[in-house]
Amino acid sequence: MNIHEYQGKALLKEFGAPVSRGVAIFSAEEAEAAAKELGGPLWVVKSQIHAGGRGKGKFKEADAGEKGGVRLAKSIDEVKEFASQMLGKTLVTVQTGEDGKQVNRLYIEDGSDIEKEFYLSALVDRATGRVAFVVSTEGGMDIEQVAHDTPEKIHTITVDPATGAMPHHGRAVAKALGLSGDLAKQANDLTIKLYNAFVSKDMEMLEINPLIVTTDGKLRCLDAKVSFDSNALYRHPDVQELRDLTEEDAKEIEASKYDLAYIALDGTIGCMVNGAGLAMATLDIIKLYGEEPANFLDVGGGASEEKVTAAFKIITADPNVKGILVNIFGGIMKCDVIARGVIAAVKAVGLQVPLVVRLEGTNVEEGKQIIRESGLNVIPADDLDDAAQKIVSAVRGG
Ligand code: ADP
Ligand code: MG
Repeated sequence: MNIHEYQGKALLKEFGAPVSRGVAIFSAEEAEAAAKELGGPLWVVKSQIHAGGRGKGKFKEADAGEKGGVRLAKSIDEVKEFASQMLGKTLVTVQTGEDGKQVNRLYIEDGSDIEKEFYLSALVDRATGRVAFVVSTEGGMDIEQVAHDTPEKIHTITVDPATGAMPHHGRAVAKALGLSGDLAKQANDLTIKLYNAFVSKDMEMLEINPLIVTTDGKLRCLDAKVSFDSNALYRHPDVQELRDLTEEDAKEIEASKYDLAYIALDGTIGCMVNGAGLAMATLDIIKLYGEEPANFLDVGGGASEEKVTAAFKIITADPNVKGILVNIFGGIMKCDVIARGVIAAVKAVGLQVPLVVRLEGTNVEEGKQIIRESGLNVIPADDLDDAAQKIVSAVRGG
C-alpha cells in the first residue's frame, strides 16, 4: 500500500527524522491560510499523487500553467495561483503512464535553501532477506539512470535484523555520502531513525529523493515515498487510515473486499485461477501463445461460490477483456464449487466474450458435468496448453 508524500513525512517526523513544515490542502480556498501559517518567504506547492517524477511532470490541461507538479512560490499570491492552477488537473510523470493522475491534494511546504541533493532509500533486499539502505551522492534525479550509467555511485548497506541499525551502519551511510563532522553525525542519527520507522511500520520501501543538505548545514528529507507491506497492514490501523482509494484501481479495491488477489494488467485475456503459482504460469502461457493477460487473479484455496461470482464480475468489468480463461486445479478447492460459481456469475453478469474453462482435480467430473448441462456457451479445455491455445484463438476470432 502506498501513501502520499505529506503522510509519509508526518510519519517520519514521529520517529524524529528531519522534515520541513507543511500543510496539506484539498481545495484552492485553503491555500492562503496554509501559506500564512507557514510564513514564507519561500513556499513549495507540491502535487500529492502516488507517483514520483512530479517536479519534471507536465499537466494535461493548458490552464494548469507551464511549470511541473512541484512549484517554488515566492509570495502568498503565487501559492494561491499555483494551487488553483494545479488542483483537479491531470499530472503526467514518468511514473504515471500517459493517462496521468488527477491532483486532488496539494502539500504546501516551507521552501529549503538547498546546498546538495542526495539519494537514500531503504528496502527489503530479497537476495539477503534483510533491510538494506541504498544511498548515492547523485540525488534529485532518476536513480535507475544513475544505476545504469554510474553503478559505482550507488552504495548498498545491509542491516542484520539481529542487531538492527547500529552506529556503524550510520557511519557507512555518511561515508558513502562523503559527509564528515556534524553532517556525518546527522546522517548516522537519521539512518537509525529511518530504520526504526521502516521496521516498526512494516514498510516495504522508503525512498528519500532528495535527501538534502541545507545551506546552513542540516540534513533534511525533502521528498518521501513510502509503501507498506499489505500483508502486515492488520497490525497498523493507523497506517490503514492513510489509504487513499482514489489513487487505486477500482477493480483492485473491489477485489480486496472479497480477499481476492487481483492485479490489473494491460492485455485482453481475463484470467481466473487458483493459486499464485498457477496464476503466474497461466499468464506466462498466454504470452507464450502470443496474447497478453488482462489481469492476475488468484481466487485462493477456499473460494466460495460468492467469491467466484465476485471475481467474475471484476474480470468482466474491464472493457479491454476480449476473452476469459478459467484455470482451476481443485485441491482444497473443489471443481464443482468453481463450476457452480462460474455459472452463477455468467447468469448474473451475462457473457459477452468467449469463455474457456479448464478444470482438474477434486470432483472434476462433477464440475465438467455441471458446465456441460448449464447450456452456456463455454469452451472446455483439457490441460493448460490446450486452454491457452483455445482462448488465444477465440479472442482472435478463430
Ligand atoms: P518528485 O520526486 O516527485 O519530482 P520532489 O519532492 O523530489 O518530487 O521534488 C522535486 C524537486 O523539487 C526536488 O528535487 C527539489 O529540488 C525541489 N523541492 C522539493 N521540495 C522542496 C522544498 N521544500 N524546498 C525547496 N525545494 C524543494
Ligand atoms: Mg523526489
